[in-house]
Amino acid sequence: MGIVVQKFGGSSLDGPKKIKNVARRVIECSKAGNQVVTVVSALGDTTDKLIELGTQVAECQSRREMDMLLSTGEQVSIALLAMAIKDMGYEVISLTGAQAGILTDKTHTKAKIIEINPERLSKELDEGKIVITAGFQGITNDNEITTLGRGGSDITAVAISAALRADVCEIFTDVEGVYTTDPRMIPEARKLAVVTYDEMLELASLGAGVLQPRSVEFAKIHNVILHVRSSFNHRDGTIVREDRYMDNNCQMEKDVVVTGVAYDLNTARIGLFDVPDRPGVAHGIFTALSRENINVDMIVQGAMRNGRNDISFTAASEDIEKVLEIMKPLTETIGISKITCDRDVSKVSIVGAGMITNPGVAAAMFEALAEEEINIHMISTSEIKVSCIINKGETERAVASIHKKFNLDKTDQYFLGRIK
Ligand code: ASP
Ligand code: MG
Repeated sequence: MGIVVQKFGGSSLDGPKKIKNVARRVIECSKAGNQVVTVVSALGDTTDKLIELGTQVAECQSRREMDMLLSTGEQVSIALLAMAIKDMGYEVISLTGAQAGILTDKTHTKAKIIEINPERLSKELDEGKIVITAGFQGITNDNEITTLGRGGSDITAVAISAALRADVCEIFTDVEGVYTTDPRMIPEARKLAVVTYDEMLELASLGAGVLQPRSVEFAKIHNVILHVRSSFNHRDGTIVREDRYMDNNCQMEKDVVVTGVAYDLNTARIGLFDVPDRPGVAHGIFTALSRENINVDMIVQGAMRNGRNDISFTAASEDIEKVLEIMKPLTETIGISKITCDRDVSKVSIVGAGMITNPGVAAAMFEALAEEEINIHMISTSEIKVSCIINKGETERAVASIHKKFNLDKTDQYFLGRIK
């Protein structure tokens, strides 16, 4: 008998029919002889709707009250799923994040899990119950309800898997696994059998959307094997683990170049003009942002003239108001002449460890964009990725062109991915 943690996202729980479908799926896993903890998100787009409601009643959001509001979404899901399972004749109990022992820090709306006390979970499992747990939420040690940031149910599932030393953490979603790119956008996208944590981390944080990036980091640290699969069929999905070629004595370095093409529509570019060129300025700007928990992504500092630089950087769209708010007083103290903000951009990236030893890879990506006459606003590269900021309206054409350029629609998936 094993311990299986399952996670079902909002799209798998959208309405009574789908909830019953999930209930059957949970029961199946339990009947196969496993102890099952199922983590659920809010139904459908409930969280979006709650956020909208919140912004309609108040211009200035209290993050604490936002957590109070958003945590209700998952509470609805656990109750409904537990009712459905009970009705099918199985022993089950629903638990909120707090009841499941999920302790977080005090950063409302973006809390981090500090610790899981799995006592209650283990007790219920030992009594033979299926446990349904609310994703995305936890509690501080002052008994304040927190949420973990958008998509946070994945983190809950991985953290519980680590705490219970589960055999596998199954992430059920509305796609069949991790693809070479978004199959909803590009029909030629192909499913990958295995990706490594590092590849997945890049794909997820680059906007591939299947897994919450922090959940992948967490899985990597605690060595939790993930299985990303569809809630609507029983086909194998994609395994995410440390080593891509664990089962194969493989020597395919020469062919391995690019694993996938990711895009992120949820990005905006901030430009700072005439920033004084002296030590400590970048430190001042980016410390102020990090203090407010703003994740800055690409940072580019342009060539210096007359003792001044231009700096541009990107951040998530939802953080941009906050970024501007933080930057305003700073522009005066530092002496920056102008700030611009461009929300009409997206980020397109290629990922794969093979590119580090292949100098032509970035060039091929730029060629694919040039062929579509797509202008590049910013470029950044790392060991296993190349990212470009382009106009948002051109994202789909860009992804299609790059996907094709690297033969991701054709190559045997075995030959894609990371070089060991
Ligand atoms: N319901 C939350 C959200 O939509 C958490 C999740 O879905 O994982 O962000
Ligand atoms: Mg959701």
